[in-house]
Amino acid sequence: MLSLRNCSLSFGNVPVLDNVSLDVYRNEFISILGPSGCGKSTTLRLMLRLLSPEGGGEVAYSSPDLSLGMVFQKPVLMPWLSALQNVMLPLELGPKKKFSKKEAREKAESALRLVGLQDFQNHFPHQLSGGMQQRAAIARALAADPTVLLMDEPFGALDELTREKLNFELLRLWESPETSLSSIVMVTHSIQESVLLSDRVVMMSPRPAGVTDIIPVPLPSPRQAGMEELPEFHR
Ligand code: ATP
Ligand code: MG
Repeated sequence: MLSLRNCSLSFGNVPVLDNVSLDVYRNEFISILGPSGCGKSTTLRLMLRLLSPEGGGEVAYSSPDLSLGMVFQKPVLMPWLSALQNVMLPLELGPKKKFSKKEAREKAESALRLVGLQDFQNHFPHQLSGGMQQRAAIARALAADPTVLLMDEPFGALDELTREKLNFELLRLWESPETSLSSIVMVTHSIQESVLLSDRVVMMSPRPAGVTDIIPVPLPSPRQAGMEELPEFHR
């Protein structure tokens, strides 16, 4: 789906990534774990092609129009826009596809429905709980119907219960026939979360970071075990 090949990167003369290679396959969930500052967010930015690797490195996509969605580490909902307007914004202004207002609205409404926020689309961010804001950010990432979803510690700021609930909701979204989601790459600091959700756990070393290990999750995750027992959406 997406490959990093021999990617190195420095900021100024500070090396941050050292020869990182990683393949993201179709239909897999990858977690990235590693100490703070090692370059996890930088790795996601490389995958998004917001940054380019240094000489020799390559970020390859399985198709030239591969569509990626991103949930950033810091919530970036515009406080003066409603949930619906926040989700519509990149659809109307996006660098690649541009949709008409009507199309953007329809896509945004269905993305908000997917994350269970259909009754809150006219709420402003401060009127939403932390978990709901994060769902709105996920809806925004899903609105253009990406094939690959990149998430940077999406649930790090949430309490344990909300986090767990959103973990299951994420698995449901991934399985849902209403999305085109094939692969998910999630940066997390939670070993528990990585084992619960992912097929493979990528371990990164302190800066300059390389991938030190790629560990298949040995136990069947809830997804691998079958989705029937997962809870429905809750607010
Ligand atoms: P955390 O777990 O705390 O989010 P991280 O693994 O995501 O950390 P990155 O944000 O990728 O780490 O940063 C890796 C290193 O690169 C850090 O030392 C950071 O200071 C540095 N860095 C990141 N972005 C820039 C930038 N735009 N300019 C200069 N240095 C940067
Ligand atoms: Mg980070």
